[in-house]
Amino acid sequence: MPYEQRVLDNALDAVGSTPLIRLDKIAQAEGLKCNLLGKVEYTSAGGSVKDRIAKRMVEEAEKDGKLIPGESVVIEPTSGNTGIGLAMAYKGYSVIITMPNKMSLEKEAALRALGAEVVRTPTEAAWDSPESHIGVALKLQREIPGGIILDQYRNFNNPLAHELTTGPEIIAAVTATPSTSAHPSSGKVDVFVAGAGTGGTITGISRAIKKTHNPECIVVGVDPKGSILAYPDNLNTEGKGDVYVVEGIGYDFIPEVLSRDPHDINTWVKTADQESFEAVRKLMRLEGLLVGGSSGSALSGALRWLKSDEGKHIAQTPGLNVVVLLADGIRNYMSKPWFLKMALEAEPTPLAKQIADALKNG
Ligand code: PMP
Repeated sequence: MPYEQRVLDNALDAVGSTPLIRLDKIAQAEGLKCNLLGKVEYTSAGGSVKDRIAKRMVEEAEKDGKLIPGESVVIEPTSGNTGIGLAMAYKGYSVIITMPNKMSLEKEAALRALGAEVVRTPTEAAWDSPESHIGVALKLQREIPGGIILDQYRNFNNPLAHELTTGPEIIAAVTATPSTSAHPSSGKVDVFVAGAGTGGTITGISRAIKKTHNPECIVVGVDPKGSILAYPDNLNTEGKGDVYVVEGIGYDFIPEVLSRDPHDINTWVKTADQESFEAVRKLMRLEGLLVGGSSGSALSGALRWLKSDEGKHIAQTPGLNVVVLLADGIRNYMSKPWFLKMALEAEPTPLAKQIADALKNG
């Protein structure tokens, strides 16, 4: 068969099965000898890594009889992407998403277009205050008949979705790709790097890799400055509580599904907004990948770790595979000032000057 294709039953069938793509140009520009590979999640139907957990949480709640089509109202506090996954996974449920103000207009517009209700909450509200996105969701659950919170912060189907899909896909891609002289490969996932929000992605993928594939894999967690998810806690001292612009990673509390157990996450790196956005630019310009802000954080964290004392021997070993999770796409952030500045306020290129001259002369 020339193409492996089939007709899918619906959009939920197009969740996951995302590509693992070489980031050779970035590796070369950074002087890395190891393989740098990006797991590109924006190709999932709802545009992010979180589609997978929304689908699994809904399907499992249906099996348990907790969700009743036509009756249940799905309420979820999210930075937006889980909400988009839930709004896609509709099957007759009304969906209410509570989301901090700092999250992009694009996510709200996508949610509303999918038919969800969106309630904005103050970004600076502490997670356990009644005004936070979590507090407001709890109030709505109490007040609205049929209201149910699937709760990505505690629901074990969140990490499990990644243990059963994202992780195995990464392992399958790496093990199916032969080692060649052009692209030597250890045949293993040697390092895995991801940002953490709820922590479901990194914890679940880590378990898949360590339990079934390579127990020695080094898993690197990335946490924005201002958040408190990194471990040990002294990493979080600088800029603690500062507001950061990057969306979807970092929190002011440790979610239950985020295991900071060193068996799951070996080490942590802190990143600043600016380096994340510069890394997004590199992914776009050098690799043609239309990734979002937290993907920049993950890449920036990976590069920082590969240059550290802990990581530099890996960076210089040909064939070792370093996988970076790129969680969503830039189309979620096109109206954000950091993106508009990057896209529209760059120095004019020599070609732009040539165009201007050509138009003047014509
Ligand atoms: N990046 C983006 C853009 C996200 O929306 C999320 C989810 N909040 C993450 C990263 C982190 O994923 P997780 O919640 O599984 O840690």
